[in-house]
Amino acid sequence: MIVEMSKGASRQQIDHVVDRAHSLGFEVQLNLGTEKTVVAILGSDTGKTSTDVFAVLPGVESVSRIMKPYKLASREFHPGTSIVKVKGVEIGGHKVVIMAGPCAVESEHQIMETAKAVKNFGASVVRGGAYKPRTSPFSFQGLEKRALQMLEKVKSEVGIPVITEVVDIQSIEIIAKHADIMQVGARNMQNFALLKELAKTRHPVLLKRGFSATVTEWLTAADYLLAEGNQQVILGERGIRTFEDSIRFSMDITSIGVIKRFSHLPLIVDPSHAAGHAAYVPTIARAAIAAGADGLLIEVHPNPEEALVDGLQSLNIPSFERLMAELRPIAKAVGRAM
Ligand code: PEP
Ligand code: MN
Repeated sequence: MIVEMSKGASRQQIDHVVDRAHSLGFEVQLNLGTEKTVVAILGSDTGKTSTDVFAVLPGVESVSRIMKPYKLASREFHPGTSIVKVKGVEIGGHKVVIMAGPCAVESEHQIMETAKAVKNFGASVVRGGAYKPRTSPFSFQGLEKRALQMLEKVKSEVGIPVITEVVDIQSIEIIAKHADIMQVGARNMQNFALLKELAKTRHPVLLKRGFSATVTEWLTAADYLLAEGNQQVILGERGIRTFEDSIRFSMDITSIGVIKRFSHLPLIVDPSHAAGHAAYVPTIARAAIAAGADGLLIEVHPNPEEALVDGLQSLNIPSFERLMAELRPIAKAVGRAM
C-alpha cells in the first residue's frame, strides 16, 4: 500500500502514519521527496487492511494499493528517477554510461590494455569477471582473488571504476572491497539469500535479468535489495530465452519501455550476452540506446580469438571504437549525451 502525504505534511503527521503501520504489524519505507513524502506500507497481508485506516490520518493526501508484487522498485513508491552514483559516474542521469571490458579478467596485461582502450574511447566503467558462473564445472571459473588484485590496479592506474560479478555470499566481502559495482548475474537473479546479503552492504549492485524471468519477477527481486535499504540498484537487461536459436538470447527491447514506465531504477542493457556473436552486438546496442536505456555493458577483448570466455561475442578494440562513434548521434537524437 502506498500512502502519499500532502504537500507540506509535517514530520509529526508522517510519524503518525508510520506508527499506525507499525501498530498493525507492517514495515514501512519512507521516500522523503522534496515536494512530497511517500510512505510504502510493506507486509504480506496489507490486502486485508482497509486503505481508510491511513486515509483518515491528518496530512494524508491519498492511499493506493499496488497490485503488482514489487513495491520499492515501483514508480508509485518513487515517482522520480533514481540515479546511482559511482565515483562521479551517474547511472540513470542525462549521460548514457558505457561499461566495457572482457568477460573475464585473464591476465594483468589483458585487463590493463582493455581498460585503457575503452576509457580512451569513452567508457566510464570497466567490466571484468573475477568469479565466473559457468554452465559447466569444467569451464574456466575465473582468476578469483588474483583478478580482484588486477582490477584494483586498473582502478588506481587507469583511474576508472570497475564492475565485477559476485556469485556467492562467501565472496561478497572481498568483492565489495575491490569492486565499485557488484554484478548479480542472470543465473543468480532469484538467489534471494545472496540478494539479502548484498542489500546489507549498501554497495551499488547491477541486478541482471534472469533469462527466464518476467519483468515483474525481476523488479520483485530488486525489492529484496531495496527492502534492506540499499538504494544503489541498477537493472541489467541481457536477453531472455525464446524459441529463436539464431542468437544466444533474444533481446527484449520492449522491457526497456516497460521498466521505464513502471520503475524508477536505472537500466543498463548488455547486448553481448544476448547476441552471442560480435556481429550482432552493434545492432542491439544501437537499438537499446534508441529505446531509452541508461547505458550499456559491452564485452570487449583486445584479442577475442584468444579469449578464455565469450570470445565470439567480444568486440575487439577497433570495433568498440566504431560502435561508440555510432552510438553518439543516437544518444543525442533521444535527448541524451554520451
Ligand atoms: C556476464 O556479464 O559476465 C554474465 C555472465 O552475464 P549473464 O549473467 O547475463 O549471463
Ligand atoms: Mn560473458
